[in-house]
Amino acid sequence: MTNTLPPVAAPARTRAIMQEFGIRTKKHLGQNFLTNIEVLKRIVAAGELSQDDDVLEIGPGIGSLTEFLAASAHQVLALEIDESLLPVLAETMAPYPNVTVENQDVLKADLPALFAEHFDGKHNIKVVANLPYYITTPILMHLLALDVDFTNITVMMQKEVASRLTAEPRSKDYGSLSIAVQNTMDVEVAFVVNRNSFIPAPNVDSAIVVLKKRADPVAAISDQKAFDKLVKGSFASRRKTLWNNLIRLYGKAPAAKGSITAALEASDIKPSQRAEELSITQFAELQKNLQSQGLL
Ligand code: SAM
Repeated sequence: MTNTLPPVAAPARTRAIMQEFGIRTKKHLGQNFLTNIEVLKRIVAAGELSQDDDVLEIGPGIGSLTEFLAASAHQVLALEIDESLLPVLAETMAPYPNVTVENQDVLKADLPALFAEHFDGKHNIKVVANLPYYITTPILMHLLALDVDFTNITVMMQKEVASRLTAEPRSKDYGSLSIAVQNTMDVEVAFVVNRNSFIPAPNVDSAIVVLKKRADPVAAISDQKAFDKLVKGSFASRRKTLWNNLIRLYGKAPAAKGSITAALEASDIKPSQRAEELSITQFAELQKNLQSQGLL
């Protein structure tokens, strides 16, 4: 079927589709539909999409971005949690035989199984999405935990979360999220998107972030669970010293205090420092030394 209609994302067409299907956007599902064609073109460019790529889209909505992905990539698999959008997508995506829509919650979906079912294994696998903002972090963590080699992950999120993802030590946005992601991924903000590019306009500005897996992690982590606990605990009270946060984490019994002191010394970190001053490598070193002191 040839598509002679304006893009789904053209504001007049978005409004017409919403009226035709009686769509009222659901805030609790983070529904803000993109209506800026320039932004959509730039997302496709940021993801470096080509016919060599199979794409997972999270939350196609009414298909605004999906249409652009379909035109650039080999195959598109779009997971949409909102069942009421399926008839809309059936209509808007009818001209694109390389798009499959599944009514699934991305956080519960068996993604490797879906890739095996819908992709041929001969193409790169990329993720491109205008994420539902209420679950940006869980989605990223879910994707990073998978044993899938995504060539890149190109996602729109709240600008403020993008700043946390790319933050360097000694900045106010640096924290456990920066560390969890940057240890294994190179993260870049491709560009910032004004809130007026959506219907309805969200009350925050957004940014497109491109994540690519690093050849090697910044630091080798022997016990990921203990490392995550240390990092989260160290940032629990940002204004407090590392010492105070560590005492809260591992206990203030004299034995624990002694072990923390020894581990800090072995890591060449002062108890008066704050978590935001520590690099990923320093946290990994500290965790190793706490572990040798019997603290997990
Ligand atoms: N891609 C469309 C666009 O750019 O216009 C819509 C993006 S909108 C910000 C987020 C979409 O994610 C909505 O369609 C929402 O229903 C969907 N969504 C929310 N939670 C989801 C989940 N857990 N799994 C899959 N889709 C979800």
